Amino acid sequence: MTTKQWRLFWRTPISHGARNCWWRLLIQKLPTQEALRHVNPDSMNPGWCKICNKQVEDAQHMIIECPLKKSYWNAAKTIVKLDFNIADLWDILTFRKTIDKEAMIHVSDILLVLWIHHWHCYIKEELWNTTHAIRRFRKQLWNKGENFHGQEITTMYEEYLAKHTDQDQDPNLVE
Ligand SMILES: [Zn+2]
Repeated sequence: MTTKQWRLFWRTPISHGARNCWWRLLIQKLPTQEALRHVNPDSMNPGWCKICNKQVEDAQHMIIECPLKKSYWNAAKTIVKLDFNIADLWDILTFRKTIDKEAMIHVSDILLVLWIHHWHCYIKEELWNTTHAIRRFRKQLWNKGENFHGQEITTMYEEYLAKHTDQDQDPNLVE
């Protein structure tokens, strides 16, 4: 990322929760299953995505490429009338392609709900349901301007990470 791209990122008026997730994406520190595999007691597991169970969950898979998440992006994009091609989404998220400010804000809203719903599924061990994710997204649009569970989800995933770190410290502890 160039200084100019970072400036654009910090100047875009997006919610705290969305910025948290997006920033992790930009510094390549998303807690994907692939990144967390070293704390997994089963070293044979390369970090499978627990949403689709079909591919390794790296950053692109976590945010866009998981088929279930892709359907969420497509649906959410239609709701807020974003007209870019879904194939350009990763370039937009990594500032290789620019879109106008309003569109950036909508992308951040979609991203935040994806992040919240992702952790909801992982922590509650529920299957991804795009209809539920879209319901969350509509609710967020409705509540716009309020705090949309940004803090709640940060706490949830920190607890999740702490739990996995414990397993790392004690290899005998298997759930
Ligand atoms: Zn997946």
